[in-house]
Amino acid sequence: MRVRFHGRGGQGMKTASRILGSAAFHAGLVVQDSPVYGAERRGAPVAAFTRIAKAAIRERGLIAAPDLIVVADETLLFEPTAMPLAGCSARTVVLINTATDAAALQERLAHLGRIESADFTSLVFSITHTLVGLSTALGVAAAALVGLSLEESLAGVAEELAHATLSRAAYEANERLAQEAYALADAWRAVPEPLDASLALAAEAAPTALLAAAPAGAPGTQLVELRFEPPARATPTICVANTPERSTGSWRQFRPLLQRDLCNACWTCFVLCPEGAIALDEHEFPLIDYEVCKGCLVCVHECPTHAFATEKEVR
Ligand code: SF4
Ligand code: SF4
Repeated sequence: MRVRFHGRGGQGMKTASRILGSAAFHAGLVVQDSPVYGAERRGAPVAAFTRIAKAAIRERGLIAAPDLIVVADETLLFEPTAMPLAGCSARTVVLINTATDAAALQERLAHLGRIESADFTSLVFSITHTLVGLSTALGVAAAALVGLSLEESLAGVAEELAHATLSRAAYEANERLAQEAYALADAWRAVPEPLDASLALAAEAAPTALLAAAPAGAPGTQLVELRFEPPARATPTICVANTPERSTGSWRQFRPLLQRDLCNACWTCFVLCPEGAIALDEHEFPLIDYEVCKGCLVCVHECPTHAFATEKEVR
């Protein structure tokens, strides 16, 4: 059984793959999990891989032809540097965290295999009142889909959350979330050919790159020089490499919306935005460039007057 998780930096897909791996380990199976994210930033597409089998796993590296794909956010579906559906076949099950129903996605994605979808983001919000917890929800949903029991799944969550410094209340919220996510995904298992975590790993096709190949003539190891502009535009502008052509706006899951009547033009957001996506208008109020804003929500969290609202992106 090969499972591939796709998410954005900060969504916890590495932890989700570990929760699944730990759950399978508690079921007495052999597991292997590994993430790939390099030196990426919050919001950048990342992937994590879990292999589960009854016998020793000698295969290593990226999973090119998964049995189950978990997509942590629908904004990744058409992201060229993520390509979450790469390597899909008619037997691949795809689980997508989205409010869009599976039938509509089936048509839109033209995937021959099975698609399941649920709004795990809302589920996480409703139970933990934060976005933290998507790893628990999707790790457990994957465990249910591959046929692991609730007890094994909860053991996987307990094992992984033991490494986090959570309050008792946050831990209990994660447990509740795990139970809800398991119930949701368990209902999907009654399909003609359920996934079976104990399946031996069949030979996999030669791994193909998950990330889009760098365009011809890409700068490679060229040094990136930062240019500093005058004080009114004091944030650094990355002016070489491929940044001007790279639209990090497509990484965004949540859009910050300025409520100008609440803004006192303190410039905190302008200074702290890690992408330099906030400029100042002629009255020196922040102006967000949504082509560049990657949705990290640093501005939302740091604004002293709570002048930003947020809106979920749907693509
Ligand atoms: S504008 Fe806000 S959400 Fe967008 S990249 Fe900058 S800090 Fe992050
Ligand atoms: S941090 Fe808040 S108050 Fe300050 S400029 Fe930005 S939006 Fe306005």
